Amino acid sequence: MYLYNSATHKKEEFKTHTPGRVEMYTCGPTVYHFAHIGNLRSYIMEDVLEKYLREAGYVVNRVMNITDVGHLASDADTGEDKMLKGAKREHKSVLEIAQFYTDAFFADCQKLNVKRPDVVQPATGCIAEYIQIISKLVDTGYAYLAGGNVYFDTSKLERYYIFNDHDEEDLAVGVREGVEADANKRSKNDFVLWFTKSKFEDQALKWDSPWGVGYPGWHIECSGISMKYNGEYLDLHCGGVDNAFPHHTNEIAQSESYLGHEWCPQWFHVHHLNTPEGKMSKSKGEFLTVSLLEKNGYDPLAYRYFCLQSHYRKALVFTWENLDNAAAAYGKLLNRIAALQPGGDVDAAVCQDYKDKFLQQMGNDLNTSMGITAVFDALKAKTNDATKLAMIGEFDRVLSLSLLEKAAQLREKAAQTVQSGGSGYLITGEGDPEIDALVLQRYEAKKAKNFAEADRIRDELNARGIELTDVKGGANWKRV
Ligand code: AMP
Ligand code: ZN
Repeated sequence: MYLYNSATHKKEEFKTHTPGRVEMYTCGPTVYHFAHIGNLRSYIMEDVLEKYLREAGYVVNRVMNITDVGHLASDADTGEDKMLKGAKREHKSVLEIAQFYTDAFFADCQKLNVKRPDVVQPATGCIAEYIQIISKLVDTGYAYLAGGNVYFDTSKLERYYIFNDHDEEDLAVGVREGVEADANKRSKNDFVLWFTKSKFEDQALKWDSPWGVGYPGWHIECSGISMKYNGEYLDLHCGGVDNAFPHHTNEIAQSESYLGHEWCPQWFHVHHLNTPEGKMSKSKGEFLTVSLLEKNGYDPLAYRYFCLQSHYRKALVFTWENLDNAAAAYGKLLNRIAALQPGGDVDAAVCQDYKDKFLQQMGNDLNTSMGITAVFDALKAKTNDATKLAMIGEFDRVLSLSLLEKAAQLREKAAQTVQSGGSGYLITGEGDPEIDALVLQRYEAKKAKNFAEADRIRDELNARGIELTDVKGGANWKRV
């Protein structure tokens, strides 16, 4: 697979530390509110990536944190604590809202066919691991104490701006409008590893530490959790593009200073979903959620389809009209798959051929729109329906659009509609939609007193070896 690596700013061949095995880490949600569909764009694309790697033959160990402590409203380690703000808003404890929104997050993921990572770890569960890392950073001079807090000393690093697509000036932390500079910091990029003196005296969750009772900074959780479950060598780190700086930059700084070697060579950043008005934010009042999509009559998978149609490295604009177009395209695709007749022999060689091509196309920097095109190519393939269905089933192991399940539901629904004829006329037979449709046409013709047409259809059915018997309120047919 070739994947764009935002640490090197190049598309590169995907490599792993241990052949055949991928240690993959994803920054999880901050659980102070529902996830918005922008957050979920990131998780959908990461889900496709994970499933792709599995289909390509890797064993994947995917780890994700849940940020339930210490995530400040501003990226500058200042501002209001988001968890605390959420708890106050809902008159609940921090842990209560964390649990509620964690469950809500995974319920949304399930509706979007986003698989649960192998390991999901709330940040509050690994305090001992953070303390161990921070202690070593203090001992080795990478961290210092000031004003009761422990800070990472970025001046000790040879290279800090790893993701230097960004302009250093734009990234100047602590000098943004409305954000107070932290006088304890020796330089503006230094960041908090452990707070004992925060502005929030009512901070609910605190733990004892060598530096006093307090709580961890935001960035340390991902280093601690990843090292615990992925080991010292991480292959692939994922997140939304806003995480690149300062969050991922700081994760690298502290992890590599702690480990003494390179930590994670490959970084996958999903670009933002925006509204025409701009950035999507869950700290603003009304925002777009999966529940809102459902309330407005959309299948959440139509949103997944919408996301897959465009590339993860391009910003995507959400409008209801754009979603309508995606939902219509998704519906048409399902109808075409529903028209295929299940049963019969699968041509395994043809199926493998198409699957190889699918993996190759998707393997070009996770080209998901080509992945969808591959489904249309399968529909047009010169092979039988059973083989087409088998190919589509294979592709859907990565795309996860429930293509076969939804098509089967449509087929069933169509059969039921034909059977009832929309008018209480019940056709029973051997479940062949084409024959059912002819029987129904004969009924409609008789109802319209077009007996010649009704007889013609009966003759046609006879000629096709169908024996038709009129029964009360309907008809029954069988092949003879
Ligand atoms: P948060 O819950 O704020 O920690 O964010 C969860 C994930 O969503 C992170 O990986 C963010 O980078 C990502 N994210 C935030 N906003 C957007 C957006 N508008 N579009 C895509 N991903 C986003
Ligand atoms: Zn993270």
